[in-house]
Amino acid sequence: MERHARVVVIGGGVTGCAILYHLAKMGWRDLVLLERKELTAGSSWHAAGSLFALTSPSSAAVLQKYTIELYPKLEAESGQACGYHPVGGIHLARTDDQVTALRLLHSRGKRNGIESEFISIEEARRMAPILKTDGLKAVLHEPLKGYCDPASVTQAYAKAARDRGAKVYRQTPVIATTPLPDGRWDVVTPQGTIRADYVVNAAGLWAREVAALAGIALPLMPVEHHYMVTETIPEIAALGREVPNISEPSGGYYCRQEGKGLLLGAYESRCTHWAEEGTPLEFGHELLPDDLDRIEANLARAVEAIPCLETAGIKRVINGPMIFSPDLGPLLGPHPDLKNYYCACGVMSGFNQGGGVGKVIAEWITEGEPSLDVFFWDVARFGGWAGKRFTRERTKFFYEHRTDIVYPFQEFAAGRPIRTFPIHDRLAEAGAVFGFNYGFEYPLWFTRPGEPRADRYGYGRGNWFDTVGEECRAVREGVGLLEISTFAKYEVTGPGAASWLDRLLANRMPKTVGKTVLSPMLSPKGRLIGDFTVTRLGEARFLLLGSGPMQRYHLRWFAQNLPADGTVKFENLSARYCGLQIAGPGSRALLQKVAEGDMGANAFPFLSGREMELGACPEAIVVRVSFTGELGYEIYLPAEYQRGLYEELTTRGRALGLRHFGSRALLSLRVEKGFPSWGIDLSPDYGPFEPGLDRFLRLDKPDFIGKAATQARAAAGPPKERLVTLTVDADGTDCFGGEAIYRNGELAGYVTSGTYGHYLRESLALGYVRSPLVEDGAAVEVEVVGQRRPARLSTRPRYDPDGERMRG
Ligand SMILES: Cc1cc2nc3c(=O)[nH]c(=O)nc-3n(C[C@H](O)[C@H](O)[C@H](O)COP(=O)(O)OP(=O)(O)OC[C@H]3O[C@@H](n4cnc5c(N)ncnc54)[C@H](O)[C@@H]3O)c2cc1C
Repeated sequence: MERHARVVVIGGGVTGCAILYHLAKMGWRDLVLLERKELTAGSSWHAAGSLFALTSPSSAAVLQKYTIELYPKLEAESGQACGYHPVGGIHLARTDDQVTALRLLHSRGKRNGIESEFISIEEARRMAPILKTDGLKAVLHEPLKGYCDPASVTQAYAKAARDRGAKVYRQTPVIATTPLPDGRWDVVTPQGTIRADYVVNAAGLWAREVAALAGIALPLMPVEHHYMVTETIPEIAALGREVPNISEPSGGYYCRQEGKGLLLGAYESRCTHWAEEGTPLEFGHELLPDDLDRIEANLARAVEAIPCLETAGIKRVINGPMIFSPDLGPLLGPHPDLKNYYCACGVMSGFNQGGGVGKVIAEWITEGEPSLDVFFWDVARFGGWAGKRFTRERTKFFYEHRTDIVYPFQEFAAGRPIRTFPIHDRLAEAGAVFGFNYGFEYPLWFTRPGEPRADRYGYGRGNWFDTVGEECRAVREGVGLLEISTFAKYEVTGPGAASWLDRLLANRMPKTVGKTVLSPMLSPKGRLIGDFTVTRLGEARFLLLGSGPMQRYHLRWFAQNLPADGTVKFENLSARYCGLQIAGPGSRALLQKVAEGDMGANAFPFLSGREMELGACPEAIVVRVSFTGELGYEIYLPAEYQRGLYEELTTRGRALGLRHFGSRALLSLRVEKGFPSWGIDLSPDYGPFEPGLDRFLRLDKPDFIGKAATQARAAAGPPKERLVTLTVDADGTDCFGGEAIYRNGELAGYVTSGTYGHYLRESLALGYVRSPLVEDGAAVEVEVVGQRRPARLSTRPRYDPDGERMRG
């Protein structure tokens, strides 16, 4: 066995083999995969192999499409059949909400070129004569659906990788991984030790055990999953061709042809965890005892659609374990606490996602960054707060509701609360309905006295609509208070702080103490990887404010780029510091009531910030920025002072008509102002030009990360698409993201944020439109819940386009 490798991949399931293949394909040599037993010896050998591409978020659909389209190429390259059957699939809808869910799926698929079309009930019956069509309201056909043979796919990746020079060692368990001071790893097996530049944990069911070898814990929990295969079904045998895959939103099952019978898989409504305390090391090509009672309800649903299942003989029942993260998405990428250690764990749907995961991990290792936004699958999206109980409760909930419709703005209670801020109970008393953000509870909106403190979900406007309207008007006309503790806060200090930030961020750092700038952060390839508010608090002291959920991702990036000479230090203040925002024309008067000194427009101008005594807190940091479009202040202070300041602001604010507002009002206010938000309108899928953040670039600075790539992009001409505002002639339902936009009947772009603009009283959206089609005032159409609605495009904000109110 080799003594050295550039990359050691641990685990020979579909994920590990796909990573090895992609690394080899990208031209890397000295690649080794170590497998404890035989290839596929985890979840991979007993998977059902069902395939689908239509899913969300958007990049997940891109990766699933990529994976499925790879199979014919992989077969050709490796000479190993993948058992790939591109039979297509149909999604059934029985209720109006299911019809809407399918319309949205169809509309969103267009962004990524994933074909689908609504077919008539007769056409569905022709495609799948086994289908009982009574009660069906709509059928969506997805041609990319189908199935593959899981063991063959895994072998094909391994064969193609070996043909390109990679080595695969079976019966070679990794028993230790030891980090070395130079960032390399010693990967220890009974057969010898390999010194590796990079390690990839692709150990599937044993990812937790392999992670523990490196001293880290991953939020993963295995669950049992059943499917069964029937004997020959005469109707199918008589057809002489294959039937498409069949599934339905909220159905809890998936069905596809297997031989001349059917394979029926069930997301049991009673999730059963397996091996909670750790996967047995000796577990191999084994199954778990089946328990058909658990899938009775799923079977009954399937029989309603496919009656021949009721009488079909059962040839085999499979109950196998698979391992999930709390949101059922994979945990990918460099582990934030380790050097050169990549995770490719918790891959829930390896035959739909494996190729995409392989590509992304290979790009990350060889090129330093993936070619598309994969934050929704990044291992950094969970912090230490995602403990065992949370993981158990979330995996249970999401598994049991795997096929349920997810409504716009839907929040999930499972596993919560975990972390709360000091004024949580006070906000609850004020009527807050809470959402979940990086482990914390934060206010979405505030109910009126006597109103039930809960969201009611649907595709129309939510039960919060009117109240959020009042919150918005209170901010525009008076003063509102928003709890903003979930924002990430970092302190950067040291003699090298200013020059380091100037290299890390694309804007020029403030020269003067007390000044604030907004700055994008770019990857070396010029992708947006952050969006920060930076305030110079001292000669060698800066406060950075950024996206809360991105904090582990950002800390990983800061650490990777920190100078080795010790001249810069950064500290994550996010959990230790809380935040309150006051916004609206009355906010200055309110601030003045609790502050020492002059808070007037000249003394405390827009885009400035300072540490000051505020109420009883001697060390509050106040920054004058605005995400609402109004005069406003963000206040950050050590957690122990939050309650006191809150009491003072609410007491003193009473005379000014102070009103609480939540994130749903903030959405409405910022969309009226045309402000994009991180993770919704801004992500690594864009550079600074598409969303108009180029106004914060300083290409004349000596150098910063991403400068060369950004200059090249600028030289290549206008960006392909641009962020615009749309005013939609809505019919009681607003956009909420993902909807297709048309101009002159041609697909022109897609929506990223959608809401009702309560102050302007118009239905609004932000979205990206192909640059040549962007024209101020142009008539366009937007597919709102599947119905094309007329809309008007604006290149300027709908509210206060010159920003006079926030600067005032
Ligand atoms: C019943 C069932 C049906 C499914 N149906 C589908 C489906 O229809 N479509 C779909 O896409 N997905 C399906 N899946 C999910 C799919 O099986 C998994 O997503 C996929 O197999 C995960 O692959 P993996 O390579 O990440 O993990 P695994 O397959 O678990 O592979 C991990 C490998 O790592 C090896 N390993 C572990 N520890 C070590 C060590 N210390 N040293 C060396 N090697 C080690 C293991 O032996 C194993 O071979 C199904 C799963 C189940 C259980």
